[in-house]
Amino acid sequence: MIFSKPLLDRCISCGYCLPACPTYAMTGEEASSPRGRISLMRALETGELPEDDGTLAEQASFCLGCRACEPVCPAGVEYGNLLEQWRDHQWRGGQRPLQARLLMAAVARPWLLRLPGLVRRHARTAASAGGPSLMLGCAERALFPRVSRAVRTLVRGLAAPPRQGCCGALHAHNGDSAAGERMAKELGKTLPGTIVTTSGGCAAHLAAHLGRPRVREASEFFVEADVLPLGTLSVDGRPARVALQDSCHLRNGLGVWRQPRELIRAVAEYVELPSAAACCGAAGTYSILRPRDSARILAAKIDEIEAAGVDYVVAVNPGCLRQLRAGLRKRRSRVEAVHLAELLVIASKQVRPDRQTDLSESGS
Ligand code: SF4
Ligand code: SF4
Repeated sequence: MIFSKPLLDRCISCGYCLPACPTYAMTGEEASSPRGRISLMRALETGELPEDDGTLAEQASFCLGCRACEPVCPAGVEYGNLLEQWRDHQWRGGQRPLQARLLMAAVARPWLLRLPGLVRRHARTAASAGGPSLMLGCAERALFPRVSRAVRTLVRGLAAPPRQGCCGALHAHNGDSAAGERMAKELGKTLPGTIVTTSGGCAAHLAAHLGRPRVREASEFFVEADVLPLGTLSVDGRPARVALQDSCHLRNGLGVWRQPRELIRAVAEYVELPSAAACCGAAGTYSILRPRDSARILAAKIDEIEAAGVDYVVAVNPGCLRQLRAGLRKRRSRVEAVHLAELLVIASKQVRPDRQTDLSESGS
């Protein structure tokens, strides 16, 4: 048995998901749609298609895993779970792409995750006493340590224990969901209480294994903890124009999309991109495993950002931030990509420190 039967049986083949799927939009082929892929999964399960069928291998890899097919599905198909089960089987052992294997091996070593912090300082405090803790994230510690520092600037008193491992999302999305679950549970023990994360993808993965109440993505935490964004971002004497790129798993998996918009609106002129909710092509390891497809998706996204005439584009996930920065840099764009926490810190610099939120005083 490769798939959970109740999950696989749920699809009624209505096709409502097709217009939401970016890979179907690219090819127009049924096999590249959510419905087509579920048919492939069923054919794999029954043996109608051999294990080494080329279409199975191609479509398991071509899918972004963005889960845009889930919120539009009237039957409640949990496509993200099905994809994890599919890749567990399709990418088992030596069949997993080499780059994914290397990344997974790297993030599974906690000592390696701590190294970037020795070179580029991320936020860190003593171990948490059970209150909310900031998850430092493996990609962020290596690439964007400023993001965790920005969160601690906004919410003084939020614990950020340095001895924490990876949440396991990378493993779950690359064919090792058992390790992904184990790592999430280990992190849950290291960070007791609410886990605050600046990564939409990690938030969705942790919520699936630790339960939704344990997990807060930064924007929802800011709104709930009353971290009011203060100040107004201005550029050339006018309010800054700011767009948002949703995190797919945050929006499609956890239904969080209002909060980041609300926070941006509080400090700047918010500009909704036509495809804000659609994947930017980062999709975890997708930009590494499928660079051409990823670049094609990104090019259209950068066209849109440029056409919108914005000053900043905000991300709520480190993978999206890396992807947008690379695309904007390649175009020599004047638009700056920042994490939401960084944007709020830039705005709050105009505000008296005593008006910033101190978690230890508010008792949140
Ligand atoms: S995944 Fe959902 S929306 Fe898509 S064909 Fe199946 S039932 Fe319909
Ligand atoms: S996860 Fe994204 S790319 Fe994959 S089938 Fe669903 S909508 Fe299409």
